Amino acid sequence: MTYIIPVAPPASVPVADTDSRFPIRRVFCIGKNYSDHVREMGGDPTREEPLFFIKPADSVVGPGGAVPYPPHTENLHFEVELVVAIGRDVDVNAGLERVVDAVLGYGIGVDLTRRDMQSEAKKRGRPWDMSKSFDASALCSSLHLADSVGHPERGEIGLDLDSEPRQRGDISQMVWSIPEMLIALNSLFPLKAGDLLYTGTPSGVGPVTRGQTLEVWADGIAREAWTLS
Ligand code: MN
Repeated sequence: MTYIIPVAPPASVPVADTDSRFPIRRVFCIGKNYSDHVREMGGDPTREEPLFFIKPADSVVGPGGAVPYPPHTENLHFEVELVVAIGRDVDVNAGLERVVDAVLGYGIGVDLTRRDMQSEAKKRGRPWDMSKSFDASALCSSLHLADSVGHPERGEIGLDLDSEPRQRGDISQMVWSIPEMLIALNSLFPLKAGDLLYTGTPSGVGPVTRGQTLEVWADGIAREAWTLS
């Protein structure tokens, strides 16, 4: 069998302390998953159905990758997020243990958002895709295997913009815990090896412009930085 056009190599991110890379299959994200961030966006943090959206696999920028400022926005926002990497396929009816067992590791990332476009979409009841799913919109560090970092339930998550503190939160403040998110997502889209899940952002989101550096971390897991061009 041959393909009529060249097949693009899969997007991938490095796996820390190994020579391997993690091939990315799909990128899932959750909105409104830290109550202080829901409040800062003018929402009500009572627990409702988790709000998932998707970015293309090739929107992921790994460590050291270029992050061009995207077109069609005057208000590009950063959102630091813990990233969960799925290492094996999961059956749609899998229970908690099987789902957690499918987690290969964790990274730290940024969900870049055209906030002006998203605000307009919300106002008009339109989909979020164009505000969330553009090229280079999903920054992701190297992945750290669960075998070495465990399955984090607490720990600081943060973002500095040009060395100024901007976002500070704790993984324990998630509205939906990581296992709860994975169960909910698995019932909609059975998880596959290669999937990433961006787990939502704490408060303090704000704009980033060309030439500025985002430094992000999750304590005990990963730290990474990108500069916009
Ligand atoms: Mn987000």
